[in-house]
Amino acid sequence: MKILMYAVLEPEKKYIQEWSAKTGVEVKCVAERLDANTVEWAKGFDGIDFQQTQSLEPVVYQKLHEYGIKQLTARMVGYDMIDFDLAKKYDLTVTNVPAYSPRAIAEMGLTQALRLVRKLGYYDKRMDNLDFRWAGLESTEIYNLTVGIIGAGHIGGATAQLYSALGAKVIAVDPIHRVELNPYLEYTDLETLLQTADIVTIHTPLNESTANLFNSATFKKMKKTAYLINMARGGIVNAADLIAALQSQEIAGAALDTLADEGQFFEKQATPEEIPEDYKTLRAMPNVLISPHSAFYTDTAMKNMVAMGLDDVVAIVNGKRPQFEVYK
Ligand code: NAD
Repeated sequence: MKILMYAVLEPEKKYIQEWSAKTGVEVKCVAERLDANTVEWAKGFDGIDFQQTQSLEPVVYQKLHEYGIKQLTARMVGYDMIDFDLAKKYDLTVTNVPAYSPRAIAEMGLTQALRLVRKLGYYDKRMDNLDFRWAGLESTEIYNLTVGIIGAGHIGGATAQLYSALGAKVIAVDPIHRVELNPYLEYTDLETLLQTADIVTIHTPLNESTANLFNSATFKKMKKTAYLINMARGGIVNAADLIAALQSQEIAGAALDTLADEGQFFEKQATPEEIPEDYKTLRAMPNVLISPHSAFYTDTAMKNMVAMGLDDVVAIVNGKRPQFEVYK
């Protein structure tokens, strides 16, 4: 069996080689994404696997069908680049990797929250000036705090378990109430969460209900001592309003793993000109932590992302039911 993997990033290669050695399936990797120009490379392969946010052009579905390929496997959570009507028309089964490692993102969110709570950004700044004083930087302890989770799905649920294990009170807002999370959290409404949480941590998709959800009105409802953690998508938080809220001390700090316009410098060495002013302002604040959409980047997550996608390609090629088929 031969599989062609599109849009392969350097850090994935080690895990692809490991999977290939274990399964005996040949995998060819290309850096380019799957599109009208590159779909022809799939000729002669049994299956394909890709990750990208750009929509697949109609010709891609048609050509894959002509080449005898039976699936579209996105080795990522999102699948909005796929037109399900065309996939159906050309007999392509769609699979994704819905949860390669919720703990990876949950642990990163917790790490950043602890850094904020312990005011480490301020200490770092003092230490840079050989200022060894700690006055004015009294902290608190995590089990004294209430953590508010916006979106308690795979990642939010894992986040609830981590904070709960540390003794914090965990509350959550999610239209879906999951009984399996009852030992770790209490469901509430958004107003109550904003007014009572010491740490507000976002784990929803970016959709109509969450775009710009954190804006000047939202920040005004939060505690002045509260920290905002966004490990989800940049578009959920209005960066200009966040800056204003931090400058006027409406909230105490923020950690952002994702930024609204990050597409242009995602996993790249950026130049200062490419970076929007908002980000530069945020980056300069000692109570703001910015990471480059790296919350997912652990050994377990990378291994699962590669293997879960490729295992499903093999299942479909062998006429079996894949584990992560997406229906729409
Ligand atoms: P999930 O689908 O398991 O959970 C999302 C939850 O959000 C669901 O329970 C859903 O009901 C809830 N939700 C949707 N709209 C809501 C709203 N308006 N208010 C409250 N809750 C709402 O998804 P997941 O696997 O936990 O991933 C969550 C998000 O994390 C992804 O959509 C993605 O944006 C982000 N993510 C980030 C990284 C990273 O590296 N930083 C990696 C993977 C995923």
